[in-house]
Amino acid sequence: MKIAFIGLGAMGYPMAGHVAREHEIKVWNRTTEVAVRHAEEHGTIAVERLEDCAAQDVILTILPTSREVDEIVEVLVPLLGEGGLWIDCTSGDPESSSRTAARLFRQKIGFVDAPVTGGTPGANAGTLTVMVGGTEESYVRACEVLGTFGSRLIHVGEAGAGHAVKAANNAMLAANLWTAAECLLTLKKLGINLRSALEVLNAGSGRSFVSESLLPSRILEGEWPVTFKLALQEKDLRIAASMAHSSHLAMPMIGLTTQLFTAALNDLGEGADYVEVVKYVAKMNGETW
Ligand code: NDP
Repeated sequence: MKIAFIGLGAMGYPMAGHVAREHEIKVWNRTTEVAVRHAEEHGTIAVERLEDCAAQDVILTILPTSREVDEIVEVLVPLLGEGGLWIDCTSGDPESSSRTAARLFRQKIGFVDAPVTGGTPGANAGTLTVMVGGTEESYVRACEVLGTFGSRLIHVGEAGAGHAVKAANNAMLAANLWTAAECLLTLKKLGINLRSALEVLNAGSGRSFVSESLLPSRILEGEWPVTFKLALQEKDLRIAASMAHSSHLAMPMIGLTTQLFTAALNDLGEGADYVEVVKYVAKMNGETW
């Protein structure tokens, strides 16, 4: 299968490396040097002109938001022939993906929204979970590509459903992260040994991905890597809040969490990692980590 892979960021770069082991693949990145480096490292073909991606069987995008995906769609769709497939692995907006799917359908091109979970460790290892929205036929065709970097592929509904489930997942992650940050700061203030506290929490019913995988290295070892930008997590919350809003539902927890993450983003800036909201919670209380 001939594939054009568009977006070689923290997730896309290793994912494209996995795709390249089984398929002929062209890579395009806004900053061309990254695509050139990928070609040297993984034997892919770096292309400078976006238009050179159009002749492939499959177009795969993984970009910050649906806005950037829509810009690429505007350029490429007029150049695409019938029978192709567009796979969007961006954590995007369900309404945008439904619109794009309908537009591509008119040109006899399939579309799936296929966001991923598992972070950069999962992308590096090729063990991501992929939640897929689209027709059964498009899902089956996409599996051949998605299986190169995903160990669990789940068809969750029509176009847009993958993005909806992803936004729900990240809203739950964010609310959990904020609550854990408040609880651990409180324990610290009380003078409780946090190593022991985390040992208890991770054996107890309060445990989560946040307490088991994210917080120990940050809080106990002082390591604060940037793996998933706070700006992207805040975008996922805004998608979840907008889904609730357009469904005419009162969802105060999603609303509050979104507001808190927006405040943290405004304070910490675009370059911050999402787990750094833990530092922001401390700052709100005149404390530091
Ligand atoms: P990064 O910020 O690391 O990479 C973004 C990529 O998009 C880069 O290749 C960048 O190019 C490109 N890009 C940015 N703006 C534009 C633009 N206007 N036009 C064209 N290309 C552009 O993001 P991630 O890889 O972390 O995230 C990608 C998606 O995956 C997001 O939707 C995110 O929410 C989701 N995601 C991220 C996870 C993570 O742990 N990081 C986990 C699961 C999902 P350039 O090199 O030129 O900057």
